[in-house]
Amino acid sequence: MIRISSQFDSGAIEVLDCSDPSDIRLRLPADNAADFRQWFHFRLQGARGQACRLCFENAGQSAYPAGWDGYRVVASYDRRNWFRLSPGQYDGQRYSFRLTPDFDSVYFAYFEPYGWERHLTLLGAADAAPVATVHDLGATPDGRDLNLITVGRVAPGKLNVWIVARQHPGETMAQFYVEGLLERLYDTSDPVSRRLLERACFHVVPNMNPDGSVRGNLRTNARGTNLNRSWLAPDMTDSPEVALVREHMMASGVDVFLDIHGDETLPYVFIDGNGMVPGFTEAHAAREARFCAALRAASPDFQTERGYAPDRFTDELLTLASKWVFHHFGCLSLTLEMPFKDNAHLPDGLFGWSAARSQKLGAATLQALLAVLGGE
Ligand code: ZN
Repeated sequence: MIRISSQFDSGAIEVLDCSDPSDIRLRLPADNAADFRQWFHFRLQGARGQACRLCFENAGQSAYPAGWDGYRVVASYDRRNWFRLSPGQYDGQRYSFRLTPDFDSVYFAYFEPYGWERHLTLLGAADAAPVATVHDLGATPDGRDLNLITVGRVAPGKLNVWIVARQHPGETMAQFYVEGLLERLYDTSDPVSRRLLERACFHVVPNMNPDGSVRGNLRTNARGTNLNRSWLAPDMTDSPEVALVREHMMASGVDVFLDIHGDETLPYVFIDGNGMVPGFTEAHAAREARFCAALRAASPDFQTERGYAPDRFTDELLTLASKWVFHHFGCLSLTLEMPFKDNAHLPDGLFGWSAARSQKLGAATLQALLAVLGGE
C-alpha cells in the first residue's frame, strides 16, 4: 500500500488521493498563516518498482506559476544524496512528474532541504572554529532562537560585513551558500579568508526565518509575515526576526550587506542592486560594478546580463532588506539570487542548481568581497 507523509522538519504536502500509483493527486499547501505556496517536501512509501505519476493539482495557484516551466523535482532515497527527476509537465494549472522508485521510501522536495538539525550542526562548527562565536539574538514567534555567527573580532577601524540568509524559508540554497562561505572563512590556511578577517568582522545570520523553515513555509514566518517586506518598520510581534537583526546592525554599523535568496523563475545567479533608490550615485554604481566583476571572475556561475528589471522607486522598496540597508547606511548592499531550476549558462543535467553549487558560490563570494574591501 502506498503511504505519503510529511510530518517532519520542513515537511509540506496535502494528499487528495494516493490509492493509484499511476495517478497520485496532491496539493501544494499554503504557508501556515499566509496564502503563499510552492514549497513541498514529503516521503512516498510502498511504491518500489511501480511506475508512479504524481500531480500537484493547484500548481497554477502557487506564488510563482512560471517557476514550474522547465522545473525538475529534487528527490532522494537516503536524504543525503539528492538528484533531479526528468522534467515534469506543466499545463498552466497542474504540474505532474514521474518516477519508478528503486527503493521502498523516496523523498521529494522543491529543493534540497536544509533541516534544523543541520542548522544546529552549522552552529556547532562555528563554536568549534577559533575565529567564530555564536550568539542568540532573541526569540522567534514560535520560541526558537535567532542565531548570529560572528567571525573575526569587532575592533576600531575594522569594517562590518553583514550577511543574512533564508528570510524566505523555502529558499534553502541560501543556507547552503552561507555554509560554504563560513567553511572557507574559518580556514586559517586560506589567504583570502585571512586577509578578509584582518580587514573586517563578519556578522552572519544563517537562518533569518527558523519558524517558517521548520514549518515548511515558502515565504513567511509563523505570523504570516514576509520578513523581506518588513525592514522599514519591523515589530516584536509580527517580525521580531527583522527587529532583532536591525537593532544589532545599528549597534555595529554596516559596511557591506548581502541578503541571500533563491528565485523560483529565473534560471540564473544574479544580484539586485540599488539603482532605483534615492541617493544612489555614480560612486555607488561603480562599487556595485566592482563587486559584480570580481564575483564573475571568482565564479562562472555568476552573471550580470539577466536579473530583475529596474523598477521605479516606491515606498515599498524600502521595506526590502538590501534597499533599506543601503538607504540607512549608504553601504554596498545587495540581494543575491540563486535559481531553483539551474544556471542556464552552465547547466548540470544530473543535479541542476544544487546545494553543492550554492556552497561553492558562497565560498567564491569571499574572493569578491576581498576585491571591494581588501587594501585599496
Ligand atoms: Zn527570497
